[in-house]
Order: sequence, then structure tokens, then C-alpha cells
Amino acid sequence: MAEATPLYDTYSRAPLRFERGEGVWLIAEDGTRYLDFAAGVAVNSLGHAHPHLVEALKAQAEKVWHLSNLYEVPGQERLGRRLTEATFADKVFFTNSGAEALECAIKTARRYHFAKGHPNKFHIITFEGAFHGRTLATIAAGGQEKYLEGFGPKAPGFYQVPFGDLSAVKDAITDETAAILIEPVQGEGGIRTVPNDFLRALRALCDEYGLLLVLDEVQSGVGRTGKLFAHEWAGITPDIMAVAKGIGGGFPLGACLATSEAASGMVAGTHGSTYGGNPLAMAVGNAVLDVVLADGFLQHVQDVALVFRQGLASLKDRFPDVIDDIRGEGLMLGIKARGPVAGLLAAVRAQNLLAVPAGDNVLRLLPPLVTTADEAREGLRRIEQAAETCTVKVA
Ligand SMILES: *Cc1c(COP(=O)(O)O)cnc(C)c1O
Repeated sequence: MAEATPLYDTYSRAPLRFERGEGVWLIAEDGTRYLDFAAGVAVNSLGHAHPHLVEALKAQAEKVWHLSNLYEVPGQERLGRRLTEATFADKVFFTNSGAEALECAIKTARRYHFAKGHPNKFHIITFEGAFHGRTLATIAAGGQEKYLEGFGPKAPGFYQVPFGDLSAVKDAITDETAAILIEPVQGEGGIRTVPNDFLRALRALCDEYGLLLVLDEVQSGVGRTGKLFAHEWAGITPDIMAVAKGIGGGFPLGACLATSEAASGMVAGTHGSTYGGNPLAMAVGNAVLDVVLADGFLQHVQDVALVFRQGLASLKDRFPDVIDDIRGEGLMLGIKARGPVAGLLAAVRAQNLLAVPAGDNVLRLLPPLVTTADEAREGLRRIEQAAETCTVKVA
């Protein structure tokens, strides 16, 4: 392990090697089975090796892999139609990742005001603790010093205000403001849910000042919170929305959705992507929607989420010296640790349960949306055992 690796040293990886996956399980090379509540950071929305996804990818692989956007791609039309019919949006641009979906969202917002004759309106208000990706624009949007340091001047036009501070948002609005960008539930930031009335207030501010409301639902979208998109809980709609992670179920796929008004500046030649909307990605994205949009699926997510919520609440009561708080919405859950979150992560991993650390000392649970109530209870049992080992260490 100390051996030099040919890979960039940008990740500190756990020494685990998985050979295959089956539903909510990952099987290591030595045969050990892990309950995967990391789900590739909310990507494996339907778990591993879901038969419908495998079939869709195989069938497309035998036809055509790649075409470019020089030609019409029927899978794009179909997935685009289904996404617009299910949401506020009229228009979709397909990408390969979340950061690219955000780049498209930022460009769409700026270009809207440019096309309206206001090229000076390009400033975007964002929130502390945000995470929007690792490109030069999205690290500027996220505003986290640890991601910005050493990469030259921060891309201009991003202004960050404290999380949940409405008067700071109002104070930050100027004649140059184009948009407000926010995650309805902060993922990397520590599963911090934006209150519904705050989202409604942002919508009202955008309407009052002629700004675009841009939502980053890369992590919270595609059923993760028990609605197709998290903003539905607040009863509002954005003008622009970035989607990725769960929409591809493990295949690299993202999308930027917009109303036709918000997208009106994005005319021919203003944006592009070689791979975006690739037939393989479209086949898988459509297959994911076959499952997520099926009757009863989102209800299943809400039902299983309740099992988690109740189980985690009782663990918090029983292990107050290990668990400080339980947060989140649907199957986007956070356990705020008392001690260092790395300790809790190691303790659950020792029980063969995979989770993801996040900011604010939070351990994220992002189980596949197909997790059953029994699998949820199995996970809760493992977290209980992990909490017991943490308690012993503390004592
Ligand atoms: C993961 C994530 C991104 C970035 O997505 P990539 O596919 O890694 O580029 C952006 N926003 C949010 C909220 C995310 O969780």
C-alpha cells in the first residue's frame, strides 16, 4: 500500500476492493459482503447490477455506443420529454457529470440576462457549506477555501452568504445579480436541509428582483428525498436545475433542466459537449426513470425512510455520547457524530456497512432507493453495534 501509485494522490482511499455488487450489497475480493449505504455517493440509486439497467445497457451496447451531437439521438428526445413532463422544465441539456450540469446551469442563467440586454447581470449568490463540483466555476460557486487554494484567482461573480440567512441574501442582491444558486439539501456540507419556507422566500425574492432560481439537485434529486425532486416538498419550482448522480444509476450522466424562458439565451452554438447525451447514457437514464417513475416507487422510498428515521432516532436516544443529531430527508440521511466522524465511519465499516463522511462532522447514509425495510433494519442493527463499540472506546 505504501508502494508508489500511478494515480494522482488526490484521494485518500479506503483499502477495500470490490469485485461485484448485488442490489444493496457489495462483495469484496475476499468474499466479504458489505451493506452499501454509500451507494457510490448517492449514484447507485437502484443498487448494483439492477437487472433492468443491465438489460438496457447491454441492449444499447449491441446497437450503437456513440454518435456525437452532430445527429439526432432518439434516447435524448425520450429522456428529455420524460424529464420535462415530470418537472417544471421545458428544456434539457445532457451532460456527463454534476459539475458539468452546474456549469450549464450557470451559463444558462448568465446568458439569459445577456440576451435580455443586461450583460452586467452575471453575479450569482450562493451559500456557505455549499458544494457544486470541482471545476473552476463550481469551486468558485461552492466558495470553500480548501477547494480554491492554489488554483489561481477565484472565478469572478460568485457571492456567498451564510446558510439560511434571508436578510444576508437580500443585502447581497445588486443590479448585477443574475441568480441565486442553492442545494435544497446540502450533501457534502453535512446533510443540512434548507427549510421549506426559506426556499419559498428565495422564490419570492427571485420573482421580486427578476432573478433566476437555480437549484442544485445533483445529490437530492431523482427520488432521493422521497419526491422526484427535493424542491417539491416546498411546493416551489426553480427556473433552472442541475441533476446528475442518481439519474444515471452508476452510468456517468447529468442534466441541466430549465424553463424555456430561462433557457432562451442558449441558442445554437452557445454550449456543447462531446459525450453529453451519449446513447449508452440515455438508455440507462431512461431505464432508471422506468423504475423511479413507476407507481408506488416514491412511496416505497418514503416508507423505508420512515424505518430509518425511527431507528436512527432511537439510536440517538440510546447513544447520546456517540450520536449528536439525526438529519435529512428521505434516504438522504445524516448522523452528526459527537466524536470525530472518522471514528464513527471506521466503526460502521468494521460492521461491514459502508457510509460517506460529510462536512459538519456528519456521517451520510445514502442507501439505494430500492433498499427494503428488512435491509434498512439490518443496517440499523450494524449502526447500533458500531455505536456500542464507540461507546466502549469513550468509556
Ligand atoms: C456530487 C455533487 C456535485 C458534483 O458532481 P460531479 O458529478 O462530481 O461533478 C455537484 N453538486 C452536488 C450537490 C453534488 O452532490
